[in-house]
Amino acid sequence: MAIDSWVHETLYAGWGQRFLVKRELARVKSAFQDIMVFESHSHGRVLLLDGVVQITEADEFVYQEMLAHVPLLAHGAAKRVLIIGAGDGGVLRRVLQHGTTERAVMVEIDGEVIRLAREFMPGIGGDAWTDPRAEVIVGDGIDYVRQAPAASFDAVIVDSTDPIGVGEVLFTDEFYANCARLLTGRGLVVNQCGVPFMQADELRETSRRRAKSFPDVFAYVAAVPTYVGGFMTLGWAAKDAGLREVGVEEIRRRAMAAGILGTTRYWTPEIHQGAFNLPPYIAEQLSGR
Ligand code: SAM
Repeated sequence: MAIDSWVHETLYAGWGQRFLVKRELARVKSAFQDIMVFESHSHGRVLLLDGVVQITEADEFVYQEMLAHVPLLAHGAAKRVLIIGAGDGGVLRRVLQHGTTERAVMVEIDGEVIRLAREFMPGIGGDAWTDPRAEVIVGDGIDYVRQAPAASFDAVIVDSTDPIGVGEVLFTDEFYANCARLLTGRGLVVNQCGVPFMQADELRETSRRRAKSFPDVFAYVAAVPTYVGGFMTLGWAAKDAGLREVGVEEIRRRAMAAGILGTTRYWTPEIHQGAFNLPPYIAEQLSGR
């Protein structure tokens, strides 16, 4: 790819975004996907998988903060966290920021994503990779949840690609049933659930499936600039509906106790609570509506 050429994201037929490339850093065809890392003029370094934007240095904080801090602070006492996907290390870093985290297991199917993210985007994962509480496994998330012991985790965070290709198994009945089994009594699972303005079926379909294994199925939103199409949704499935209703002041107290308050650039206690107030075009996609 020549410098000062454009990279076009290939997510939607007839609509997308493009980045002016300053420098290509890596282009690898792994056993699972086509991986590209490049330096952009506008968003710092960018990671694409099969032509789809995964993260950019400029706005990854929005997504990683909301995917990590919301479930952990809603739970309030999550000590053991399972992360599926998230090969760039951003979710792992933020989960480990919580002083309450005793163990974080991250299961990423593609070791090449980890290798390239650590080499070319080291700021995303920071020192999470060497944290003694972290265990990084290269493997398929569905295999891991199948064999994980019952009640062995307090929260599951799925930061996967969309439900096509290797990511598809992470949006199935079997996956959610295993998550319900391996989670403790107040456990919850949150997951990357697409941009409903363009991918409404992803939220609708997977919410329906989550409802088979969890009593409280919802979603919350984040405005991630490079996930084009308006709000990005994070799917929510919890064993205790009360987790979603924790008040702002209690969230603030927990964030203070966990060492999170004042370290974020998108998440705040008010954003946390507000993210569950869904616009009708998104709320109507939730199961059964
Ligand atoms: N934030 C991005 C998004 O919203 O699209 C996702 C980032 S992260 C790089 C997505 C990761 O999920 C990829 O590294 C991919 O290899 C991983 N992944 C996909 N399917 C998987 C599976 N079955 N088990 C574990 N990891 C998987």
